[in-house]
Amino acid sequence: MKGAFPEPVPVVVIGSGVGGLSTAIVLALAGYPVTVVEKNARPGGLMGGYHRKGFPCDVGVHYLGALGEGQILRRLFDYLGITDALDLERMGRGGVIDRYIFDDRVFDLPEGLDAYEANLRAAFPDEGGQITGIMARLRGAAGLLGSAGLLTGEGAEAGPSSAFFDLLGDFLDGLGCSPGLKAVLSIPSCWIGVPADQCPVFYHHMALVSYLLSSWRLAGGGPEMAAVLIDRFQELGGRLISGNGAAEVTTEGRTVTGVRLASGETLTAPVVVGAVHPAAALDLLPEGAAPPLYRKRIGGLRNTHSILGVQAAVDADALAEIPHNIFRIRREPDGSIVDMRFLQARRMGRKGETLLSILGAGRDALWEPWTETRTGRRGPEYAALKKETAMGMIRDAEPILGPIPDPRILDVYTPLTLRDWVATPEGSAYGVLRSGDQLFSAALLSKTPIKGLFLAGQSVLAPGVLGTVLGAFVAARFILGPKRYRAEIAENLK
Ligand SMILES: Cc1cc2nc3c(=O)[nH]c(=O)nc-3n(C[C@H](O)[C@H](O)[C@H](O)COP(=O)(O)OP(=O)(O)OC[C@H]3O[C@@H](n4cnc5c(N)ncnc54)[C@H](O)[C@@H]3O)c2cc1C
Repeated sequence: MKGAFPEPVPVVVIGSGVGGLSTAIVLALAGYPVTVVEKNARPGGLMGGYHRKGFPCDVGVHYLGALGEGQILRRLFDYLGITDALDLERMGRGGVIDRYIFDDRVFDLPEGLDAYEANLRAAFPDEGGQITGIMARLRGAAGLLGSAGLLTGEGAEAGPSSAFFDLLGDFLDGLGCSPGLKAVLSIPSCWIGVPADQCPVFYHHMALVSYLLSSWRLAGGGPEMAAVLIDRFQELGGRLISGNGAAEVTTEGRTVTGVRLASGETLTAPVVVGAVHPAAALDLLPEGAAPPLYRKRIGGLRNTHSILGVQAAVDADALAEIPHNIFRIRREPDGSIVDMRFLQARRMGRKGETLLSILGAGRDALWEPWTETRTGRRGPEYAALKKETAMGMIRDAEPILGPIPDPRILDVYTPLTLRDWVATPEGSAYGVLRSGDQLFSAALLSKTPIKGLFLAGQSVLAPGVLGTVLGAFVAARFILGPKRYRAEIAENLK
């Protein structure tokens, strides 16, 4: 393949999120000397979350799908060599993985496609034909998710058929679904940041089916998962530089020569992987290194919205652990989702206390007065507004969780926090919007027109840990070239 590097050469990966670290591990396994550079003092990106007062606080990994024996994410994790080191808890043993709470109904997402079908039929008894149509497509997607082609990026079965790129809203309307059924089916697309009327069914089905196959929580949360990936990378001889980000991707003409760090140090490498948002990677290139059309294409991509997150400690007597996730949803009469809150109550961290996490819409306008100010310098009014907003979200949760006396707020992150922490435009939670109208402009982002520059991370293929790790393998395929990738990686993924 033109532009590939089938013989090991030094590689610098920019960004130590799950995208950067998985790409680094795949390349290290293939014998490439890899350095990962991270701008933050603590590596791990969204996956790594943070600790507050003895609690491991998750940001980007609340639960994972498809980690059962032989399932897609498990096979990828097995290849990376990290499965055994992760302390995983299987969800859904009580019959519920996600509980969707609407004003007029409660719907439980269980483990397994058959159980999901049964719950849909019980909740919407007059829509048997519609449910048959939906389940046929979901079973097709489950087959695709389990196929070797999707894992290896090879052969006719590598890609989904064109029907998978219909928009979810059109697909459900075409089947004649009621607004209630439509709303239930729209949640997985909203969870990956794409409204149902803009979401190609492929992304929706991939998210939904992966959680239906099996859903898992990390006993030690995201901080533990980040530590496992970092240990694995270092065990393979990889070098991790934290607290010293990439200031520039150095080039000669349109060929990469390495990375200049914020400290001024230069790392020479013919291959650089930007495992950051594509716009952030582009910003690191000298003027003229990228063709104007490419700059226009990347600059024009729209992103997913941001998220506001609250972490609070509550006495375990007042709030016990809840073994499933809760989605509180408000919808329009036509079934479209107008607001969604995600709630988790977990026993992790300090004894006798429950960690309550609530995610809600970013509400960008609220934080506008501080847009120009960096994290840590926003002053007492910003802190007060964060606290007031967080308390409001906790009070909103009481009709569902019961009274929450004396919540101790551990942390509140806003769109501005996410923007500055992981360098994502406007604090976008899931990177590039995987909408129908961006299918082509957002396709094949792993490869760039700059020789030696590749992209990884959640924006290149699909968001979420599964989409991001799959994207790492796609980036590796472009770097190794299809022949070497097939022989060394694809064969072992089947
Ligand atoms: C609130 C929230 C909840 C989520 N929940 C889930 C979930 O439950 N399950 C799931 O599967 N997915 C979830 N996701 C999505 C998932 O977290 C992401 O898809 C994934 O973590 C993205 O990883 P990444 O490596 O692409 O990006 P990031 O984690 O953002 O990593 C990018 C890294 O690059 C670094 N960086 C940026 N610029 C530079 C530079 N110039 N030099 C060096 N380093 C740089 C950043 O500091 C960061 O560490 C959630 C996301 C959010 C925001």
